[in-house]
Amino acid sequence: MLLDAPHRLLRAADTPTPEPGPGEVQVDVRACGVCRTDLHVVDGALPNPKLPLVLGHEIVGTVARVGAGVDRFTTGQRVGIPWLGWSCGECRYCRAGRENLCDRARFTGYQIDGGYAEYTVADARFAFPLPDGHADLEAAPLLCAGLIGYRSLVAAGDAGRLGLYGFGAAAHIVAQVARYQGRRVFAFTRAGDAEAQLFARHLGVEWAGASDALPPEPLDAAIVFAPVGGLVPAALRAVAKGGTVVCAGIHMSDIPSFPYDILWGERVVRSVANLTRKDGEEFLALAPRVPVRTEIEPYPLERANEALGRLRAGKVRGACVLQI
Ligand SMILES: [Zn+2]
Ligand SMILES: [Zn+2]
Repeated sequence: MLLDAPHRLLRAADTPTPEPGPGEVQVDVRACGVCRTDLHVVDGALPNPKLPLVLGHEIVGTVARVGAGVDRFTTGQRVGIPWLGWSCGECRYCRAGRENLCDRARFTGYQIDGGYAEYTVADARFAFPLPDGHADLEAAPLLCAGLIGYRSLVAAGDAGRLGLYGFGAAAHIVAQVARYQGRRVFAFTRAGDAEAQLFARHLGVEWAGASDALPPEPLDAAIVFAPVGGLVPAALRAVAKGGTVVCAGIHMSDIPSFPYDILWGERVVRSVANLTRKDGEEFLALAPRVPVRTEIEPYPLERANEALGRLRAGKVRGACVLQI
C-alpha cells in the first residue's frame, strides 16, 4: 500500500520485491501495526517523508533472506522491526547511548519503506528477535505502542500514582506494565467516552475519567499520549509537587500558555523521542513476564485506509493491525 503524497489515500500497488543489501534482512511481513505516527505522516505533520512511501513501523515477520555479512539472524527466524531504522553510531548522541536522538537517524515507514507490504528490508542491527508468547498480530503493537510507551514509563520515574492521558494503543499496554510494577494507574479519556473508560478499568486502572477532570488524588507523574497540547497544562494541574509530565507523541498541537503556578514546585514537563535498541531489548524481555495482552482489531492489508480512518476517528479499542 503506497502513499504517493501527503493528504492522499494509500493505493494498492505491485512493486518489485525489495532485495536485501549488505547488512540487511529481507522480511516476509506477517503483521504490521497501525500507529498514530502513520496518520501524522499521511496528514503532512511530519515533513519530508520518502515518497512514494510504504508506511508502517510495527512490523512482525520472518526473515526470508539475509544480506552479506548478517550473522544476527537466520532464514525463517521471527523478527520485529521498529521505528528506529538506522542511526549513525558516530554523533555525540549515538556515542552517549542516546541513538534515539541521533542527528542523522532514519525511521521506518517514514524515511525507509515500512511494513504495509508483503515484503520489506531492514538493517539487521536495528531489528529485534521476537520471543514466543505473542502471536504475530498481537506482537505488532509491542513494537511502537509498547516500546515507546515503555520509554515514556521509564521517563516518568518511580511514580507510584501514574496518569495516562489518551487511552489508545500505547496506554493500554503501559497500564498493564505499570500495574505489574505495582503502580496505581489513572486513565484520562475524551469526556463522555464511557467505552474507553470501561476498557481502562478492565485493564486494572483504578480510576478513569474525562481529560479535563482532576483525579481523586494528585498524581506523581502523567504520560500524555494524545497529540493534544491542551492536555499538558491539564496534566500539570493533576500532578503533585516534584511530578513529571511526559509527552510521548512525535507531534502535538500547540500547548496553550499556562500560569507558572502549575509548573512551580519542581514539576517537570518533558518529551520522549523515538527509541533506542536497549529500550527494545528491555521491553521485549519484560512484555512476556507481565504478561502484556494486546487488544487488536485486525484488517487485511488492502483495507489499510479503513484502519487509518478508524484510528483518526478515535474508534479503536487497543490497536489496529494489518494482517498480511
Ligand atoms: Zn548518530
Ligand atoms: Zn509508532
